[in-house]
Amino acid sequence: MEEIRLGDVVKMRKTHPCGSDDWTVIRIGADIKIKCLGCARIVMMDRADFVKRRKKVLTQGPIPEAETLRKMTELP
Ligand SMILES: [Zn+2]
Repeated sequence: MEEIRLGDVVKMRKTHPCGSDDWTVIRIGADIKIKCLGCARIVMMDRADFVKRRKKVLTQGPIPEAETLRKMTELP
C-alpha cells in the first residue's frame, strides 16, 4: 500500500491555478484532504485519485500512516 502520512508535502502532477504545485496532506483515511501551499485552498479526493495525481513526496510527515489511522479509530 502506498504510504500517505499526515503532514506530507507533495508535488502534484497538475499545477494549481495559483501557480503552485506543492501541497500538504491535512487528513488521511479513505478520503485524503490536501492544502495548497500557494493559496491555502483545500481539496478532498479519494485515496486512489490522490495516489494517481501525486507526482512526488517532497517531505514525509513524521508519524507512520498506520499509527495515525490506529489513533483515529481508538475509543476515547
Ligand atoms: Zn493554490
